[in-house]
Amino acid sequence: MKLTRKIIIALILGASIGVILNLFLPETFELLDTLLFVPVGSIFLNLIQMLVVPIVFCSIALGVASLGDVKKVGRIGGRTVSFFLITTAVAIILAMALALFIRPGAVGNFNLSNQAFDGVTEAPSFVDTMVGIIPTNPISAMAEGNMLQVIFFAFFFGVALAALKEQSKRTTRLLEEINNILMYLITLTMHVAPFGTFALLASAIGQQGLAAMQAMALYMLTVTLALFLHLIIVYSFALKVLGKYSPILFFKKFFPAMLVAFSTSSSNATLPIAMKTAQENLGVSKSVSSFVQPLGATINMDGTAIMQGVATIFIAQAYGIDLTINQLLMVVLTAVLASVGTAGVPGAGIVMLSMVLQQVGLPVSGIALIIGIDRPLNMLRTAINVCGDTICAIIIDESEKKIGMDVLQEKAS
Ligand code: ASP
Repeated sequence: MKLTRKIIIALILGASIGVILNLFLPETFELLDTLLFVPVGSIFLNLIQMLVVPIVFCSIALGVASLGDVKKVGRIGGRTVSFFLITTAVAIILAMALALFIRPGAVGNFNLSNQAFDGVTEAPSFVDTMVGIIPTNPISAMAEGNMLQVIFFAFFFGVALAALKEQSKRTTRLLEEINNILMYLITLTMHVAPFGTFALLASAIGQQGLAAMQAMALYMLTVTLALFLHLIIVYSFALKVLGKYSPILFFKKFFPAMLVAFSTSSSNATLPIAMKTAQENLGVSKSVSSFVQPLGATINMDGTAIMQGVATIFIAQAYGIDLTINQLLMVVLTAVLASVGTAGVPGAGIVMLSMVLQQVGLPVSGIALIIGIDRPLNMLRTAINVCGDTICAIIIDESEKKIGMDVLQEKAS
């Protein structure tokens, strides 16, 4: 049986068992969750997370080394970051427009008293963020899994490999071999994926308060609709027009990686599988995929931005606060920054939401309303986040091929 089919069956089984236990056998769920679901899910998560830092380091260093000239790296970097920022801004505007139209916070009784949320995040200053990207100790950056710092060090390392050519060719070869080993390990790890996704889903659904979901149904629907529209309209358009790639083919081939993102709720954990799928099934060149996808997993979160856009409007409506145009613009700006700053791990987006709310003067305690039902939305938005990174890689790869063709043509004439 093909792996994708196995994962789909595992997801459906996991979700069904989660619902049944949740509704009828809560005590059995507690027992199974502790003894089976959580350990098996964690084994799968640990196995794939184990590969993330080494893969990011090797692939970025090799990617930059193979791109060769600094001009090319700068061009790809500039285009990648522009694509990320523009699509994220579009995502938030779409989400806010939909929330203003559907008004999920205006209907229903929300308990606004006694809400406590203690995960408030202050917005870090721009200067601090920029300075913080440079690690003082690359080994501790790797040990802590600080992705931006690892990316920075790997990038620098790659520049040196490219510049030193002959003098560093054995290191390049060694990194290539390590990269091959890591890719092989991903294939091995994926054999565990059906068990892992089953356990993660059963655990997540079993723990979900179904009554809470009912009360928040309109909010959940708005977020889901915005995610869906972003995928179908914005991403499909970008793929077709900028990437010259059939959206249907893309979704068909990338579906296994989306399922892993869905079940793990983590862009970081999905990164190894997303890169392998992009390089081997979607035909994205290694050099572009290695650079664009790790960067995307760290700073590009359209799905998260969508949740933050809808949640902000929802909370304002629930508290009966009218947002001015200036405040709405402020939400767009801070939510772009917040989604850039969100780590690719489960639930990070909700913590960064406090930064957006604070910036526009909305009650941060409003997060308590949505935190209980965030897990299923987290699963969906992570799948969108991961799609965005890969679609950007396809588009950048296409534009680089075009530049390459133009250069060849110029030389020939
Ligand atoms: N779980 C998301 C991701 O890893 C981040 C978030 O929105 O919480 O992409």
